[in-house]
Amino acid sequence: MSNILVIGELGGGKVKKVTQELASKAAELAGKIGGEVQVALIGNAQGAEELGSFGVKKVFQITSQKLEQYNTEGTVKVLAELVAEQKPSIILGTASPMGRDLLPRLATRLEAGLASDCTNLDIVDGKLVATRPIYSGKAIVDVKFETAIQMASTRPNSFVPQVVAAGAKAELVALAKDPGELRALIKEVLKGKSDKPDLTEASIIVSGGRAMKAAENFKILLELADVIGATVGASRAAVDSGYAPHDMQVGQTGKVVNPNLYIACGISGAIQHLAGMRTSKVIVAINKDPEAPLFTKADYGIVGDLFQIVPLLTQEFKKVMAE
Ligand SMILES: Cc1cc2nc3c(=O)[nH]c(=O)nc-3n(C[C@H](O)[C@H](O)[C@H](O)COP(=O)(O)OP(=O)(O)OC[C@H]3O[C@@H](n4cnc5c(N)ncnc54)[C@H](O)[C@@H]3O)c2cc1C
Repeated sequence: MSNILVIGELGGGKVKKVTQELASKAAELAGKIGGEVQVALIGNAQGAEELGSFGVKKVFQITSQKLEQYNTEGTVKVLAELVAEQKPSIILGTASPMGRDLLPRLATRLEAGLASDCTNLDIVDGKLVATRPIYSGKAIVDVKFETAIQMASTRPNSFVPQVVAAGAKAELVALAKDPGELRALIKEVLKGKSDKPDLTEASIIVSGGRAMKAAENFKILLELADVIGATVGASRAAVDSGYAPHDMQVGQTGKVVNPNLYIACGISGAIQHLAGMRTSKVIVAINKDPEAPLFTKADYGIVGDLFQIVPLLTQEFKKVMAE
């Protein structure tokens, strides 16, 4: 039997949606190889046993005072120990800031092959096949593994959390593990001002480009975002012009996002911007130039002045959401 271990993530003491998404996909894969899905959490999470409804059988809650703040070295050590004990054949994590830091190091420690930043996973002939965009999203490749342990990280919003056993509870296994002598410590975490999900996890994004003309004009995007529960992003031209901070930048040298809906306002659609958002499920482009390249990638296009269209959309969404 071949088990699948999901490296879970916590936020505000709860299991994050990205982990529910991945657990659901893992349950589907486990059905094809006849194994069970296990989740490893660093720290205790409220309601972790509810992962059972997504098909998870066991949740390992690894606790250590030294890991109350995320620490790469210590987390790799305790997870490598867990893998040695549980011997999963597949390990999955999220292509989040934590996953991007943790998973390559864990893969090296385990001498496992890792396909990072994937958008789909499947089982073919009993082995994992991971689908990932390459060359800034211009091509898609299926990755197969030659190593005994197969590892992959997937972009948030790649899968929909599926309740397969309503009310089922996963078995909780508390593990106290020693992360060893830590050479680097996080002394302070400065949180961003926004209470919205980070761009990398957001399921709806409204982004503004150079056409926003000034930082204060982002107010109209924030108003729209508030109504539809979106996070606000920006193109590099908007960031370089000082209209938005760098942590809002989407693209090759910004964040790679994968929302269900991406609304681009006054963004031309340069290849470096597309590199960060082209896997969005639905793309809406608002641009006054009908020849803007983003229209060739968009599912819906609105030709016109964003300063007229965005407030109209906000008004209409307000009405729809109130219904
Ligand atoms: C190495 C490298 C890395 C890069 N990394 C990134 C990256 O990570 N992210 C990124 O975004 N870019 C990146 N770029 C920059 C990229 O090439 C583009 O310059 C940038 O994406 C352009 O941003 P923009 O679409 O906002 O601006 P522009 O290309 O200037 O487009 C502005 C658009 O707004 C439209 N417009 C103007 N006024 C209005 C209005 N009132 N209403 C509606 N539409 C209007 C115009 O028709 C135009 O299409 C990178 C470039 C390089 C070389």
